[in-house]
Amino acid sequence: MKTLVIVAHPDDEVLGMGGTIKKLTKNKNQVKIVIMATGIAARRSTNFKNSSKYDVTKDDQKIIDKQISTIKSHAKKAAKILGVTDIEFLNFPDNEMDTVSNLEITKSVEKIIQKFKPEVVYTHTPFDVNIDHVCCYNAVLTATRPKKNIIVKKVISFEVPSSTEWNFTSVFKPNIFVDISNEITNKIKALECYKTEIEKYPHPRSPKALQSIGNRWGTVSGYSVAEAFSLIRSLED
Ligand SMILES: [Zn+2]
Repeated sequence: MKTLVIVAHPDDEVLGMGGTIKKLTKNKNQVKIVIMATGIAARRSTNFKNSSKYDVTKDDQKIIDKQISTIKSHAKKAAKILGVTDIEFLNFPDNEMDTVSNLEITKSVEKIIQKFKPEVVYTHTPFDVNIDHVCCYNAVLTATRPKKNIIVKKVISFEVPSSTEWNFTSVFKPNIFVDISNEITNKIKALECYKTEIEKYPHPRSPKALQSIGNRWGTVSGYSVAEAFSLIRSLED
């Protein structure tokens, strides 16, 4: 089975579904990861605080480029641990994907779907506090709308610790649980590749938090450690 994972930022794929990705690849499924935004916010000159234009010095640009290439190399390392070599970066502006039209983001997702032809697409929930996550969800939903001979049969959303739970007034209601008891170690190892993103407990992006969240979904599902998902839609032949 071909599975496409569309995330906004490098590390979302690990935080949201690292264990499930590892399980899918272990079971010989083909998984492709697409990372939509750079993961590094551009710096604005104070003169342009309220403008959508940037005034970035050459030196600043060099620093940003270096940070972007570092985080991409972390993403590739993490993917390798999860058994994925097919990873694509689309370089949309970080934390401001809402400045790009839904049409443009959707078209880029459509292109990838037409080429890769996945049966299942995983992405963010629409309930996250991070705006890029919401933009990804909207684009995936638009790109996978049902029509004759549709390739994508299932669209599934996942939570991202440090975003989903911080949108305090909406509630992520999972109805799919994947047993990742044998994959949690790899999930944590993959997170540890992201040296600039990992934090100390009790931050949700810490190894101990990932273990706790996995245990929490385990208590809901009857597995020792689980990842939780919410089915957006499924087409059954
Ligand atoms: Zn993110």
